[in-house]
Amino acid sequence: MVLRERVSEHVYLFQSEVYAQVNAGVIVGPKWAVVVDTLALPEETRTMREFIARELRLPVRYVILTHYHADHSWGAYFFPGALVIAHTACRRLLDTRGREALEKVRQEEPAYQRVKLVLPHITFDTGELRLRLDPKVTLRLFPLPGHSEDGIGVYVEEDRVLFAGDAFMPLPTFMEGDVDQLVSSLKTMAKIPLENLIPGHGQVVLRGEIQDAIKSNLKYISEVRKYVRYSARYRYPGDYLGKVTVEKCGKSPALLGGVAPHLHRRNIWEFFRRRFGVYPRTSDEEEETEVEEA
Ligand SMILES: [Zn+2]
Repeated sequence: MVLRERVSEHVYLFQSEVYAQVNAGVIVGPKWAVVVDTLALPEETRTMREFIARELRLPVRYVILTHYHADHSWGAYFFPGALVIAHTACRRLLDTRGREALEKVRQEEPAYQRVKLVLPHITFDTGELRLRLDPKVTLRLFPLPGHSEDGIGVYVEEDRVLFAGDAFMPLPTFMEGDVDQLVSSLKTMAKIPLENLIPGHGQVVLRGEIQDAIKSNLKYISEVRKYVRYSARYRYPGDYLGKVTVEKCGKSPALLGGVAPHLHRRNIWEFFRRRFGVYPRTSDEEEETEVEEA
């Protein structure tokens, strides 16, 4: 259910096999460990905790949340002794949208009955926050917004490993964020010396592939922008955009366990709405309205 991989000297990666290949990590020092994100299902985060306790035999001192989305943050309560670190906006969003979402999920899914949200104890919003596990393991935390406003990256300096959160995914997603910010976050990543780029979802990207992977995401974003801009010439931009498939924008529909086409459509629809203030009109919508009126 959870795949585990040692990425570098100090970094372990955990990946969900059941939920959109979401990633979480553990960074190990000589006396304690840092968890970066939790997994989507409570039992998956429990698996992480057991590995840390039994195999690594280390206490978890900090839990860093790359952003407030449920699949990355809701497992923080599994580490009651740890201080939670995140962006200032993450605290606010967890306390509002996160709380609302959890209430709903609790009513529908028994597995989430015991989930308790943990609001971050330490927050920052600009610049960089540094954490030292020992003289040889330095973590640098800095904002990487765009997928969501509260996105942060966690750079393990000596290992040259970056946890990018959802600012890097095999298919960029910005339905809730800001596409300009996402572009600049991707450009920030491209300048960091890296052995491994750990996306919020999907496979680890290795050194030789990182620049191409970032370029491919930038290209996808510029294609989406182009089509959305062009769609405004049509009476029914939604009809036109409905035919703009994920492949047309340079990405495979098989990405992220097959949810790519769905995420792609949301990217387009939300980006259009942000640009023009309404969702793209489609002709069948209009027919429906006419029928209703009649
Ligand atoms: Zn997310």
